[in-house]
Amino acid sequence: MNERKDFGRIDIFRIAAAVMVVAIHTYPFADVSRTLDFVFTHVICRVAVPFFFMTSGFFLISHYAENGKKLTEFVKKTLIIYAVSIAVYIPINIYSGYFGGDTNFLQDIIFNGTMYHLWYLPASVMGACIAWFLVRRLDYGWAIAISAVLYALGLLGDSYYGVAESVGVLKTVYDALFRVFEYTRNGLFFAPIFFVLGGFAAEKRCYGKGAEKLLFVLFLDLMIGEGLLLNMFGNQRHDSMYIFLVPAVWYLFMLLLKGESRRRKTLTRAALVMYIVHPMVIVGVRLAGKIFGLEGLLVENNLVHFLAVTVISAIFAILWAELIPSRRKEKHLRAWKEIDLSALRHNAQALQGMCRSGCELMAVVKADAYGHGAYDVSVCLEKSGVNAFAVATIDEGIDLRKSGIRSDILILGYTEHKRAGELRKYRLTQTVVSYEHAKALDNENKAIDVHIKIDTGMHRLGFDAGDIEGIMKCFEMKNLNVTGVFSHLCVSDESSVESDSFTRGQISAFKRVVGEIKKNNATDIKTHLQSSYGLLNYPDIECDYVRAGIALYGVYSSEHDMPRHEADILPVLKLKAKVVQLKSLASGETAGYGRCYRAEKPVTIADVSIGYADGVPRNFCGDVMINGKAAPVVGRICMDQLSVDVTDIPDASVGDTVTLIGDGVTAEMMAENTATITNELLSRMGKRLETVIK
Ligand SMILES: *Cc1c(COP(=O)(O)O)cnc(C)c1O
Repeated sequence: MNERKDFGRIDIFRIAAAVMVVAIHTYPFADVSRTLDFVFTHVICRVAVPFFFMTSGFFLISHYAENGKKLTEFVKKTLIIYAVSIAVYIPINIYSGYFGGDTNFLQDIIFNGTMYHLWYLPASVMGACIAWFLVRRLDYGWAIAISAVLYALGLLGDSYYGVAESVGVLKTVYDALFRVFEYTRNGLFFAPIFFVLGGFAAEKRCYGKGAEKLLFVLFLDLMIGEGLLLNMFGNQRHDSMYIFLVPAVWYLFMLLLKGESRRRKTLTRAALVMYIVHPMVIVGVRLAGKIFGLEGLLVENNLVHFLAVTVISAIFAILWAELIPSRRKEKHLRAWKEIDLSALRHNAQALQGMCRSGCELMAVVKADAYGHGAYDVSVCLEKSGVNAFAVATIDEGIDLRKSGIRSDILILGYTEHKRAGELRKYRLTQTVVSYEHAKALDNENKAIDVHIKIDTGMHRLGFDAGDIEGIMKCFEMKNLNVTGVFSHLCVSDESSVESDSFTRGQISAFKRVVGEIKKNNATDIKTHLQSSYGLLNYPDIECDYVRAGIALYGVYSSEHDMPRHEADILPVLKLKAKVVQLKSLASGETAGYGRCYRAEKPVTIADVSIGYADGVPRNFCGDVMINGKAAPVVGRICMDQLSVDVTDIPDASVGDTVTLIGDGVTAEMMAENTATITNELLSRMGKRLETVIK
């Protein structure tokens, strides 16, 4: 997931990289100077393919998983392109006698490609899978180390083969390897490091900060020196892999990430098409040369040959990309939520800014992040620096771990002691709610981290604030590692004198307990008391965390809430659906279940594709927005549909987008209209809503 949308310079460079690949196969300067040809074609242009790998890695590799969905898609797509390419090149294979000799077809399909440039496609698949596996299982440090070792092994079979050759054992090993594949420049040794580094750049947001231009030039120069030396000493068996190729491509990539420019999907496709077709164009140009007697110019003059192949391939590629529609499936949405992650990041920052110094935001992502989608929300927040998360149930916690969240995860609710093994396995911090609960968890003999919940007046979960003895006993339990203590305020959203004094009572009760604990025991224990309104109304409480839920999503619980400190927050969710039919009703006609609506005059009503099963409360009777105008709901909300009056919106038509939350109608308004709070409204968003990430 990469939220920035201005990686256009990468797309532009794809074309340059494709031209470099054409150069590798047409050596434009070969008849000018052998050294120039070597430096340009066999060294500098070698950045092209690793650049493609790194780009794929950037958009694909992540330690956050969507159950490998993105990887599967990438592999499927690449394999289809590969299969088509193999088929397209069969005539040329036949022409060149490929099928005659001792071709090892299986080996070629898996490693070498059935045409000299096609190795790139199986190498992408293999490299992506290896990188994905390493990063998911081991994190970036190890993934980089292991893929670097693979790369080093590859070097010894490529530019540094001379070294391997001079050591008896190595020679035997490599000669054996070369029976399995022709080159070490493949998906096993060559591609993984670039995929891993691409993912690393995305995840750590290494978008280039200053010296990358200089460093790119430096490493490119070092690579040229390296290439010339290796070439001089006759070390190279092949010339695709250099030590300095890795940092050179990295800094090239940083350079490209630094600039801002909108994405150009056409160029992405064009570069791929150019890559695939240029060998065919080479054959075509040679053939044309022969037929028209222009061999001297078109074939023997390397530079002209290169230019001819480049221009024809590029024209073909751009025509293809422009004229053949992309197979990307357009989503035909029915009812959906739009999630604005930049608003989420903004809110996290704003709330963190309201916390006392030393106090950190704990993002409450229970109930599928209040209906916003726990996966996307948590990944976005963790990437933006949030280090603590809270969920309600152990299964929510396990899901977060499986998605790749590494931060602390606190389970706010009760968990059966029988599941202590899972708490340990997934490194989840459990809330202990009573002495009995603590004892039962301890008896499971699984070392786990826990936070102790104190009941300071809400009378929900927790140890009684007066039960210091029971609380202290938890510290002696050998399997429980108490890392935190917390309580929950129950009227911190209210400003009446009575509520305020109740809250202050809760605060001092909590402080008392914390004092006792710190007096007797660990002083590094984490404390937390405030949820969203606790922060907005009582920002000065001295704690280590603020557990923010609703405010993180950019809304207040109720429309008329006036917290003491207004937060600078933006709504993250919009709820939308479509107009699917229009109906004219004569005066006196009725609509909907129970005939609850009766037209007072001739009206036009629109049927909208969303209902209470999607999360719109059944008793909702407020406005929705169509084409920037308000349309009132008429009649009862159905399970899957609702009707609105569009008499005053004459341009309303089938297919129009209907906004139920956002663009002037807020979650607070819908909550108010349906006698609830936004917390309930949002957390009950229907499961079948589609999600559009903005
Ligand atoms: C849900 C919950 C929160 C978050 O509350 P908001 O009002 O949404 O910020 C905090 N603490 C506990 C114990 C909760 O259950």
